[in-house]
Amino acid sequence: MQDVPNSAPAFAATRHAALARLQAFLPDAGRAYAARRNFDLGPGQHRHVSRLSPWLRHRVVTEEEVLCAVLGRHSRAAADKFVMEVFWRTYWKGWLEMRPAVWTAYQAELRRALDRVQSEAGLRAHWEAACLGQTGIDCFDAWAQELVDTGYLHNHARMWFASIWIFTLRLPWALGADFFLRHLLDGDPASNTLSWRWVAGLQTVGKAYVARASNIAEYTEGRFNPPPGVLNTDATALEGPPPPPPGPLPASEGIDPARPTAILLHEDDLSPGWLLASGLQPVACATLAARGNASPLAMAPAVLGFRDALMAETAARWSARLGPLTERLQTAQDIADWARDSGAAQIVTAHAPVGPVADTLRAVTGLPVVRPLRNHDRRAWPHAKAGFFKFKAQIPRLLDEMNLRQVA
Ligand SMILES: Cc1cc2nc3c(=O)[nH]c(=O)nc-3n(C[C@H](O)[C@H](O)[C@H](O)COP(=O)(O)OP(=O)(O)OC[C@H]3O[C@@H](n4cnc5c(N)ncnc54)[C@H](O)[C@@H]3O)c2cc1C
Repeated sequence: MQDVPNSAPAFAATRHAALARLQAFLPDAGRAYAARRNFDLGPGQHRHVSRLSPWLRHRVVTEEEVLCAVLGRHSRAAADKFVMEVFWRTYWKGWLEMRPAVWTAYQAELRRALDRVQSEAGLRAHWEAACLGQTGIDCFDAWAQELVDTGYLHNHARMWFASIWIFTLRLPWALGADFFLRHLLDGDPASNTLSWRWVAGLQTVGKAYVARASNIAEYTEGRFNPPPGVLNTDATALEGPPPPPPGPLPASEGIDPARPTAILLHEDDLSPGWLLASGLQPVACATLAARGNASPLAMAPAVLGFRDALMAETAARWSARLGPLTERLQTAQDIADWARDSGAAQIVTAHAPVGPVADTLRAVTGLPVVRPLRNHDRRAWPHAKAGFFKFKAQIPRLLDEMNLRQVA
């Protein structure tokens, strides 16, 4: 199946570009963000939000760096909304980390939906029209095109799009989550799956998100105004099993810097300074090729290209500290062979949260794979056991525990 054709990439795959975006956005991260963040002004016009997510997703800049920079510029009260949104990402990661079965269930649901697409011609045609932006619903079609063209959608557009996908077009939600994951430069197993579940009424059981024409007209400043009757406003939450209770979090593994170490960079954490700060002297370094297996279908070349370019750029930036580089290892076996041949006694790599990288790392045999957790995750994730409301109450304490002077 072909999605709408892709044109130019909108985000440069460098840390420099991420820091430039952060600096440019800082003046707007306070009360202006709270007032204007819900407005989707269209492609190239998303100035009321940071558009940092493609870099944050890969930790080319970290949540802590972004929070430090913003709170170096604004009071906590003024930056409250922006800080909270950054913590939504942390919350979703922690929530899924304690419930990996929700990711597995999504993948099974997606396979079932793709099987149905093979045998139900009507469903296949509807799904293709949605991915191609050819449904006849102007706003929806424009967002499908924007997503494929730029690898980014405004948060409000993501909510409207998902709601229309599920409740107006009546397409399986897992196909929509997959469409996002294949095209978003910030595509993330936790934020994406759990946000789609939230819109569908599966995450907060029984409470679905309804896209309303008046809301779309207001927050697109009249760019779109779906006529009455086009959108289904009777959004009855989908039925599904309640979210499972939280399981244990991964233990934070300590690094023994005295052991010969092969250091592995992967797409879930591309700021290796904290690993090297433990005194490691790597005998070798490798990057893990961008994971095509987040979907059974082909990932957008722009997404894989962005990730591979970020990894290459990170390795180049840190080359003096990382040892001889091997690029784009593909499999667990590749990792084991490379580490053994490099004379290492351990592989050290940042903990990879639930998703394709974690699956690959789990399958590595031979040498120990040490996967330390960042302090940010170690402190915050234990509070993601229940709803966001409880998590949110911990944010002031989590900020107190950060070294807020360590600005990016
Ligand atoms: C259906 C749906 C699917 C989504 N899929 C993803 C995804 O795959 N990856 C992803 O990173 N986000 C996802 N989001 C969350 C959110 O839409 C994006 O993080 C946000 O739009 C990124 O744009 P920004 O950097 O300009 O955000 P800003 O508004 O500038 O926010 C700053 C940062 O906070 C974080 N953030 C903001 N809002 C959210 C949120 N609701 N949930 C989690 N983190 C948030 C992001 O890291 C973001 O870069 C999804 C939301 C919905 C409704």
